[in-house]
Amino acid sequence: MGSMRRRQVRAENGEMGSLHEMLARYPDERSCERRVIEAGWPGGWACPECGNARCSPVAGRNRTWQCTRCSRHLSVTAGTCMQHSKVGLRRWFHAIWLVARSKRGVSAMELAAQVGVSEVTAGLVLERLRGAMARSECLRRALG
Ligand SMILES: [Zn+2]
Repeated sequence: MGSMRRRQVRAENGEMGSLHEMLARYPDERSCERRVIEAGWPGGWACPECGNARCSPVAGRNRTWQCTRCSRHLSVTAGTCMQHSKVGLRRWFHAIWLVARSKRGVSAMELAAQVGVSEVTAGLVLERLRGAMARSECLRRALG
């Protein structure tokens, strides 16, 4: 029982890990995009056109992947808080990590300094993250 509990604690810590670990796990935009796809389709992505389960990044187009069989395009961040944002996904991941880890909240000034964006941009990122978290909280309350 004791060892099972320890394993569980390790798993929970490991899930977020340190900021350094997280940024090392997602070294570039494509690895972030892959993660967003995995998170968006927990059962695995399937092409709505042909049912194929594999997609690959479209060269030269950020956040666009395509079905490896029929070439249908997939917009990676559509429907997420990151859609139509000029802020790179790696910076979004950094911001999400900081907000999720912080117990007392993160200010736009702090976020700007840590993530490397302007304070105005940091304010917009925070606004979207708050909206996204509020929506997921509402969903949990309604459905949970
Ligand atoms: Zn397809």
